[in-house]
Amino acid sequence: MAKLMVSISGIRGIVGDGLSPQVIVNFAQAFGTYMGNGKVVVGRDSRVTGPMVKYAVYSGLMAAGCDVIDIGICSTPTVQMAVELLKARGGIAITASHNPIEWNALKLIDATGLFLDERQGNKVIELAEKNMLQNVRWDQIGKVESYDGAIEHHIKSILKLGIIDAKLIASKKFKVVVDCVNGAGETILPALLDQLGCNVTFINKEATGLFPRAPEPLPENLKELCAKVKSVKADIGFAVDPDVDRLAIVSEQGKPLGEEYTLALAINYVLQKKDGPVVVNASVTKAVDDIAAKYEKEVIRTKVGEIFVAQKMKSAKAVIGGEGNGGVILPELHLGRDAPLAIALTLQQLALFDGTLSELHQTLPQYFQAKNRIELKNIDVASLLDAIVQKYKKEKKDLTDGLKILWPDKWAHIRPSNTEPIIRIYTEAKTAEEANALGFQFLNEIKNLAKKQ
Ligand code: MG
Repeated sequence: MAKLMVSISGIRGIVGDGLSPQVIVNFAQAFGTYMGNGKVVVGRDSRVTGPMVKYAVYSGLMAAGCDVIDIGICSTPTVQMAVELLKARGGIAITASHNPIEWNALKLIDATGLFLDERQGNKVIELAEKNMLQNVRWDQIGKVESYDGAIEHHIKSILKLGIIDAKLIASKKFKVVVDCVNGAGETILPALLDQLGCNVTFINKEATGLFPRAPEPLPENLKELCAKVKSVKADIGFAVDPDVDRLAIVSEQGKPLGEEYTLALAINYVLQKKDGPVVVNASVTKAVDDIAAKYEKEVIRTKVGEIFVAQKMKSAKAVIGGEGNGGVILPELHLGRDAPLAIALTLQQLALFDGTLSELHQTLPQYFQAKNRIELKNIDVASLLDAIVQKYKKEKKDLTDGLKILWPDKWAHIRPSNTEPIIRIYTEAKTAEEANALGFQFLNEIKNLAKKQ
């Protein structure tokens, strides 16, 4: 992986090895220049490098004439909601999301609370690269103030949703285990779950930024949570990533449902209550299509990436959507992935269901995914995909993002990664064995085709 990555959604890199204060000041100043002078909300996850990055961000924004509103350590969705609440010009979430401890990043947010789109992001990159930066006079330098109501606003907004009945959830007195990976979860999840009347056991709660496990909430990283759920006989376990936009769920049997089912569960509930389309990215489980068909609702697929999903949700007036990595988006709240929201939606559905979480999960269509990757070493992706299209002439295809080949009960999705020099091969079928076999088949086919190039 490159040490410093600049993309439309911001910059990402390893502190001490690419992501320097100079780079951060330059980029923050470019963002401030693009926004014009005005208020910019700044929040961060709990990473140890957060303060260094924060002060560099301050400096760049203030030099461009922007006033900083610091909302402290918080989740990324809290920053997005605070931008709207405080009518700011934009926001910066200082977080490398699920990346390891040595990484940090800036995620750039516009005045509507959405991440920058391609056009906006490219403009900021251009300003930074060409050094076309606003440098205001001494008497116009921005100010810094702090605002401590952002997290409370986020919690209240979730509890106020018409589809959340906090009293009903509280009446169930759910026993819950939460793994915050020592990220920003501590700032919001204890208060939220307290107001939902849950009896909570936390692990890795303190927002120290010292991640005790790999920070991505994948099943293989949740062993401690699974064991704790079983040992305290909890009804459910939740794991979040360091900036609390992704949620993974563990059943009362101590088994991870897989992140795809965080979104499938949320969609299953919201479609019972709301009328409108669902928007998900091209790799999301087919369980979502089956659920939507049951409620006679449309599913719209987009390219992989939160901004593509969020923008489509806005234009299509979707009622629910997100990404299969545990990222649930409810436009009624805001257009960003939100783990605290997903927790409330999951508990609401469990409260209405007459049974355990495993039983609720079993009521959903069951699919399994396999995720493989191939490194791109002088592979011409376009001609490779053309060759596969030729080979699978008769099958149904979706070209929204790379190439997806669909059969009635399984699919294979092949696409170049946005962030790494690799091709991702995702496959899904009714059993894990079948999904793995399909993945293996495409791995081999692509390797053979690449050899012929
Ligand atoms: Mg994240």
